Amino acid sequence: MPKGSYRTKWCPGDPDVGPHSYMGEARWIARKALGKSLPKGAIVHHIDGNPANNRNDNLLVCNRSYHLLLHQRHLRFNWPPLDPVTGEVKFD
Ligand SMILES: [Zn+2]
Repeated sequence: MPKGSYRTKWCPGDPDVGPHSYMGEARWIARKALGKSLPKGAIVHHIDGNPANNRNDNLLVCNRSYHLLLHQRHLRFNWPPLDPVTGEVKFD
């Protein structure tokens, strides 16, 4: 697996995943920490910008608008890293 990429878990029959049966590892860990399903529309943000770092203390559960705000603020400091080719945010 390339460094810095999202990890997923195979969760067949899990009520929180769709028919594809895969859940992002970050969501899986956040759900475990919460002890319940994530709220509808919740996004799991990686505080250090590394989507492969799914430690509890690197994950922040937030809604879409707060997530956007977080990224807008970080972009002022050139974070998260931008793809040098496309100039787009590399990950969530
Ligand atoms: Zn994010």
